Amino acid sequence: MTETPDAYPPSPEFAAAANVDAGVYERAAQDREGFWAEQADHLHWRRRWNQVLDWSEAPVAKWFVGGRLNVAYNCVDRHVLEGRGDKVALHWEGEPGDSRTITYADLLTEVGRAANYLTSLGLTAGDRVAIYMPMIPETIVAMLACARLGLTHSLVFAGFSPTALRQRIDDAEARLVITTDGQWRRGNPAPLKEAVDEALFAHGDVPSSVEHVLVVRRVGIEVAWTEGRDLWWHETVAQTEPAHEAEAFDSEHPLFILYTSGTTGKPKGILHTSGGYLTQTAYTHRVVFDHKPETDIYWCTADVGWVTGHSYIVYGPLANGATQVLYEGTPNFPDEHRHWQIIEKYGVTIYYTAPTLVRTFMKWGRQIPDAHDLSSIRVLGSVGEPINPEAWRWYRDVIGGGTAPIVDTWWQTETGAIMISPLPGITATKPGAAMTPLPGISATVVDEEGNTVRRGETEANGYLVLDEPWPAMLRGIWGDMERYRATYWERFAAQGWYFAGDGAKLDVNGDLWVLGRVDDVMNVSGHRISTAEVESALVGHSGVAEAAVVGATDETTGQGIVAFVILSADATDTGAAMVKELEAEVAREISPIARPREIHVVPELPKTRSGKIMRRLLRDVAEGRELGDTSTLVDPQVFENIRTGRSE
Ligand code: ATP
Ligand code: MG
Repeated sequence: MTETPDAYPPSPEFAAAANVDAGVYERAAQDREGFWAEQADHLHWRRRWNQVLDWSEAPVAKWFVGGRLNVAYNCVDRHVLEGRGDKVALHWEGEPGDSRTITYADLLTEVGRAANYLTSLGLTAGDRVAIYMPMIPETIVAMLACARLGLTHSLVFAGFSPTALRQRIDDAEARLVITTDGQWRRGNPAPLKEAVDEALFAHGDVPSSVEHVLVVRRVGIEVAWTEGRDLWWHETVAQTEPAHEAEAFDSEHPLFILYTSGTTGKPKGILHTSGGYLTQTAYTHRVVFDHKPETDIYWCTADVGWVTGHSYIVYGPLANGATQVLYEGTPNFPDEHRHWQIIEKYGVTIYYTAPTLVRTFMKWGRQIPDAHDLSSIRVLGSVGEPINPEAWRWYRDVIGGGTAPIVDTWWQTETGAIMISPLPGITATKPGAAMTPLPGISATVVDEEGNTVRRGETEANGYLVLDEPWPAMLRGIWGDMERYRATYWERFAAQGWYFAGDGAKLDVNGDLWVLGRVDDVMNVSGHRISTAEVESALVGHSGVAEAAVVGATDETTGQGIVAFVILSADATDTGAAMVKELEAEVAREISPIARPREIHVVPELPKTRSGKIMRRLLRDVAEGRELGDTSTLVDPQVFENIRTGRSE
């Protein structure tokens, strides 16, 4: 058997052709503001800024003060005006197998029409627009039309309930909702506009702020119609003149509001602005994925309703003139080959997904991707939660042909863009480590009092903090600046640091490992054990496909470890013997202290729209409490299944 290497350096060929060289860290550290000004210069500014950063009203930053730009102009017009109008912006794959090719010139036409039509509805800069749509090109057109007009969009994932939609409409006081008649779900049309009607009418006598509902026909089902309020996209936007002059807005003009996943509590309406956000999303997309606009075919599998979709499907890639794949459906429709077929069809070179999906692919088995030619892939990305080393290695070997570098990107809705990640041409990556803050970004790991955790103290896990402002940082929580201060800035107020809410450690080389949320660190008989560590040990067993671990109050040990596992197709035993074996495995892998108090075999785990396990809800289950806020849960039914699974 060959030794498993601890670190994977880039190949000399990859390093030689990379978009950045190793000196970039040093240069950025010496003059952070100068470094970010250089990155901002990659964009088109109608008026240049006169100050890079104004932090005098901390914790609300102003970046590129006095600068004016149009975000949509940067993502669309610029490419057309510079002669790249025929370049494909989107290779769109519909779930039923239909497809569309949209060039930058096409995008300009569509965005211009939408911008003119939204203007004719009386919407003006600063108004809010809710977008509740599946993964179709019109969703991106709608976002860009808002950006072009200075309207603030608020995307609501199309899997959310009418109640969740209504909460977000009310919170942002949206004047317009853009939606579709329905969406494809594994071959069947499922209604979507119906949910908008329910959201707007359900509260009976309480009228909403919404004046119009603009509806794209996607699946062709019958929809109820409210005359005067409802408008068909094909009868309005599509009939409008495309020529539209883009106005420039202040660098700090609000671009969007997006609600967080709600993994740790009630979702927060995170506010992002224009110049700094676009600067950092474009920069990180260029260097973290080593993106080359002439040759790369880029695919980020996130939903646009999640921050990853905003920053790494829409704004970053389009600002960089990328050619990308946009896929409407699920990875297993019509069968489990779908992603690999799409990669083969378009020759995808950069593939960015979430650990939960990698583990799902592992569960389905390597014979599925092995049946395809994936040799076009040269960079792989991961985002959303810590990736366990076993999944990391599988991802690199099976999907990346044993050579593609993996960029494990740590960031949050709040940070707006990637903050901590390897750079694929520079970093010798380690399975499971986010490695290093990006050039121009400063992050550190500290203890309770804010002392920096020294390198090499691998046991001394600490809190991840961001000790310098960054261009794409949030500018607040919509309508609740007090919650903004309390959530992120109170914990280390004395030092003026941003508290990320995640635990991390620095290894002996000073490389950074994100361990998951601080709330997810358990205290068992005085020992601090992270849920991610125990989960990693469980999924390391061939019989386990997925695992979620929580700490439940325990009279004797303080907290007891409760695990929920989904067994894999290879599981030889599904009963008590398996549970015993898994308990022993965790004790062996970590320590007898980490041996779970309970292991429940369940059919499913509760997840957010972005595929993250909602441990706080599992903690509610483990401690026999009523469930907390479930508005961002994809499928509330899972709790029925978990409860039935448990009582068996
Ligand atoms: P809420 O803030 O409402 O509880 P959330 O934190 O899940 O929801 P997001 O902003 O979508 O909402 O997720 C950001 C979080 O995801 C990070 O704080 C971190 O816990 C986790 N995360 C993202 N990327 C990584 C990564 N590469 N490694 C480890 N954890 C990650
Ligand atoms: Mg969060």
